Amino acid sequence: MERSPLPELLNKVILQISELPGYGEKSAQRFIENLLKLPRAEAKDIVSTLLELLEKIHPCSECGLYTEETVCQICSDEERDRSVICVVEESFDAFAIERTGKYRGLYHILGGRLSPLEGITADELNIEPLLKRVKESNIKEVILATNPTVEGEATATYIHNLLKNTNVEVSRIAYGLPFGAILENADDFTIAKALEHKVKL
Ligand SMILES: [Zn+2]
Repeated sequence: MERSPLPELLNKVILQISELPGYGEKSAQRFIENLLKLPRAEAKDIVSTLLELLEKIHPCSECGLYTEETVCQICSDEERDRSVICVVEESFDAFAIERTGKYRGLYHILGGRLSPLEGITADELNIEPLLKRVKESNIKEVILATNPTVEGEATATYIHNLLKNTNVEVSRIAYGLPFGAILENADDFTIAKALEHKVKL
């Protein structure tokens, strides 16, 4: 059998990284190549930060936002409007909205989007806990801020249907954001406008 000239360890790590969603073999190779080019101390520093991250960061027990605490800073902030929940796909979407400083309510992180192609069903998303929060806390409004992509729209529609027989007001973030955009990549102004012009569903 022909042996690959690639050292086994290199092969292994590139394979592991390229199995992450969104990373092909090329981007995995580029990452490892750049890491190996760094002075060893610097590269080890990055890796030890990653290890620390895996040790300390986990989802908030209430909203699912990445945090070092049990309950995140936003959920434990008494100044926030506790009657509004903004539903986003990922923590980084919430961080992008936070950057605008325009939103004072709470969040709910789904941990993804419905995607039949990738086999992601409602059971795999943080949807049940959202319904529980809406039922058990004094929530008046849910803003659906999933991304304006086919999957994001389908996810918003799915959650909207589940909330229809509750008393909560449901709205959808407005666009401003071009269809196909990803919230965490949008500029602050666009996100602020999208929130400001949200439409009641
Ligand atoms: Zn939280």
